[in-house]
Amino acid sequence: MTRMTPLLDRNEQFASAYTPVPLGPPAAQVFIVTCLDHRVDPAIVLGLRLGDAPVIRNAGGRITEAVIDDVAYIAFLAEQLFGGQLEDDRLFEVAILHHTQCGTGLLADPGFRRQAAEATGRPEAALEASAVTDPYITVKADVERLLASPRLSPKVSVSGHVYDLDTGRVTTILDARSPLPTAG
Ligand SMILES: [Zn+2]
Repeated sequence: MTRMTPLLDRNEQFASAYTPVPLGPPAAQVFIVTCLDHRVDPAIVLGLRLGDAPVIRNAGGRITEAVIDDVAYIAFLAEQLFGGQLEDDRLFEVAILHHTQCGTGLLADPGFRRQAAEATGRPEAALEASAVTDPYITVKADVERLLASPRLSPKVSVSGHVYDLDTGRVTTILDARSPLPTAG
């Protein structure tokens, strides 16, 4: 037995009406970075369909070195596979989506953070830095962090957004910007 059993039943329904999607550039030209919170599924919140957008999810939707690794690799891959097919020579926009009521916000409490550090083996400072207490502030910090990375392709832009769990609405906080001025 597995708790996946009812979900596999749903998959059976999905597969019965499935049409394969060939590998191509993300149809929405967007790459989403968001929280792993099960109330924040970008496929549902943003109406994504298969082939629309790569998605990275971690606690808080934070820009970590691991996220930068993946963005750099996907930019390389997109350039190699689809470089000639893209409008304006742009690869994609990385949309960072933080949200209200994030569970990482609890890490702002020193006692909670100490316990979390003991349980996970992660340094307290790293846990404190990962906390999303105010998504309107952290999403701006993470847009700047990604834009400042020397590993970010100049053909990638970065934007910041907040999802409000009370209203279901996503608000853009920072419009898309590229790491370097584009020629022409
Ligand atoms: Zn969260």
